[in-house]
Amino acid sequence: MSDSLPSSVRWFKEMVPHNLAYAKEQKAAGRKLVGIACEYAPRELILAADAMPVCLCGGFEEMIAPAEKILPANLCPLVKSTFGFHLEKANPFLEMADLIVAETTCDGKKKMFELMAGTRPLHLLELPQKPDEPDALGRWMAEYIKLRRVLEHRFGVRITDERLREETRRMNRERKLKRDLAALMKADEPPLTGRELLDMKSLIACIPADLDQYEQALTELPGRKLDPPAGGRLRVLLTGVPLPHGAERVMDVIEGHGGLVVCQENCTGLKPILDDVDADAPDILRALAEKYLRLPCSIMTPNARRLDSLRRLAAEYRAECVVELVWQACLTYDVEAHRVRRLATEELGLPYLRIETDYSPSDSARIAVRIQALFETARRA
Ligand code: SF4
Ligand code: SF4
Repeated sequence: MSDSLPSSVRWFKEMVPHNLAYAKEQKAAGRKLVGIACEYAPRELILAADAMPVCLCGGFEEMIAPAEKILPANLCPLVKSTFGFHLEKANPFLEMADLIVAETTCDGKKKMFELMAGTRPLHLLELPQKPDEPDALGRWMAEYIKLRRVLEHRFGVRITDERLREETRRMNRERKLKRDLAALMKADEPPLTGRELLDMKSLIACIPADLDQYEQALTELPGRKLDPPAGGRLRVLLTGVPLPHGAERVMDVIEGHGGLVVCQENCTGLKPILDDVDADAPDILRALAEKYLRLPCSIMTPNARRLDSLRRLAAEYRAECVVELVWQACLTYDVEAHRVRRLATEELGLPYLRIETDYSPSDSARIAVRIQALFETARRA
């Protein structure tokens, strides 16, 4: 149990109602809402079209059964849950969406979007998956140019470079605040649990009140003591798939059994916020395309940047072990787990555990046993 909650931590506990109130108010004032489901979607472009980018990734188990009426059961729970919300019309943000900006990442998501596009306005970005090829950036930029036109046409706005630079600065500010917050976990006695840090996010980018709360957190959290103290817990680097809102179970199991997740390398952690974009670059669209193409998701091949990032983060956050989370049927993260295991155990000398699961709590006890065994190994090391 942590002490009485600082106000910034408390603010984000009410993230969904805050986001909903904000989205309704902004929609009533004429602003558009654009749903996204991946970190490759350039929020800057959407903001520059005077629209709100909102994450639609489903994290709730309740939405899996409805989705399985259409989708195969042996599919990633994140894809199924997102699609279940779509079928059930149960995600108010999706119901408010004027457009969905999707992307070709993994096959399950790509084909799910194809079904969703049957009844909802959806624009698909085609992501080059060999980021180091000389023509990859040009192809990715062409997708952003197309998206810019789609947003302009659909919303009757003009996205000027100046506006794009302005929104890039805003996104850079949000990324920096979140990065600084995450960096508090580098302390010997981090002032937050990994779960608290995971919860300090919004579905909607750049809400002014959230940015104020991040500032507030950076002044009120340093020096805070956790109860039980952070010092005695194993420092865990968590990597692999993202943990969308509602799917935090594995994080809770880790932290409920003597661990402290000091570093989250995944897409709900540091991965998307490590790099900023030069808002003064001569070609702002190119600068944005460069940033997003560098994002080291396992759907990229080869994906050496992820291993480089893990090396650096393990050292900076002084991880004592690595836990890799793989959602069931996520083939790309699962296959890449082999390389991450080798990096952790052979190069970094860190005990490693791969957890493959879905959104059902039925295997929590089994995961807890494996986590405890990992921690025993790490303590002996
Ligand atoms: S893990 Fe990959 S597919 Fe999933 S949100 Fe991140 S970048 Fe997108
Ligand atoms: S976790 Fe894996 S399978 Fe699921 S949406 Fe992300 S990349 Fe696709």
